[in-house]
Amino acid sequence: MEIARKQTVRGQALAAMRRIRELALVGKALASTGHPVMAQIVPMRFCNLSCAYCNEYDKVSEPVPIAEMRRRIDHLGRLGTSIITISGGEPLTHPDLDDVIRQMRKVGAMAGMITNGYLLNEERIERLNRAGLDHMQISIDNIEPDEVSKKSLKVLDKKLQMLAQHAEFHVNINSVVGGGIKEPNDALVIGRRALALGFTSTIGIIHDGSGQLKPLKDNEARVYFEMRGMKKRNYSRFNHFQEAIAQGRPNDWRCRAGSRYLYICENGLVHYCSQQRGFPGVPLAEYTQHDVHREYRTAKTCSPNCTISCVHQISYIDHWRSPQKYTVSPGQGHAKPSQELVTISGAE
Ligand code: SF4
Ligand code: SF4
Repeated sequence: MEIARKQTVRGQALAAMRRIRELALVGKALASTGHPVMAQIVPMRFCNLSCAYCNEYDKVSEPVPIAEMRRRIDHLGRLGTSIITISGGEPLTHPDLDDVIRQMRKVGAMAGMITNGYLLNEERIERLNRAGLDHMQISIDNIEPDEVSKKSLKVLDKKLQMLAQHAEFHVNINSVVGGGIKEPNDALVIGRRALALGFTSTIGIIHDGSGQLKPLKDNEARVYFEMRGMKKRNYSRFNHFQEAIAQGRPNDWRCRAGSRYLYICENGLVHYCSQQRGFPGVPLAEYTQHDVHREYRTAKTCSPNCTISCVHQISYIDHWRSPQKYTVSPGQGHAKPSQELVTISGAE
């Protein structure tokens, strides 16, 4: 029997409230440039999978203790952060994840998470409902598992059906093209399945180890544009930059990383994004409005060929204002992350 998303009265009320809170955060972002709109925070670098293109996980890290996670989230609240997204590693391997989510809601932020979905079950989904999760993103790379990725529709479809029945939060399924994914057409099947289950669907382009462009092959670009044509309830509306990327062209935009977007690693340091770790590399506890203002005005030389979609989307809010006065070249003369391929949008 085909399972579509269950819409309870409570679920509809929560979705309506979420939309109101989203509108409020957009209003706040338009009214003021002095706070982060989104922060991605890593409570757990460990991952239960080992995707071949990923440089954002290990097999040994311990979870960040919950008391420390609470302190870090309080600091994001102090800076006025509107959306906090948990990534990893695999967040569902953190033993106190529900309390991490509760703390995010307590400081007034929208609470999101990026997961590979493997550890979801009905009880876990109900706990995430109760903790107040607003958004979940699951990345699915292919239909059948292979040596590149086990984030596969065949393995995860049961989890998606569980989410359709039990989740009170918004669910987005992200599929990818490029970076060694063998069958670009799989992305179309995954996108259609997501929409049939009542979720939203996005597509990303896999980038290299510095967040930079890897041009798509012809068949990958065709799939990308066909997915973009599947307009129905496509969650991410600010993805125009990806069309230039798909065609191998640079983008003209102002990266506001370090200001409107923060990446907080497992050691509690603020970085521009998952692919420019080490810049600015300041402890979150010491990060101030002054840093937020400085980075807002600082252009990053990696921006023309950058594929980090969440930073593009957040920076779009200020595209029309505040030209940047200073310039920094992340990665120049510093230790760079691995040159392995990694996915866009953080860990998944
Ligand atoms: S892409 Fe996600 S699921 Fe795969 S190894 Fe990296 S963190 Fe784990
Ligand atoms: S342009 Fe910004 S988001 Fe992109 S890689 Fe550079 S610092 Fe990161």
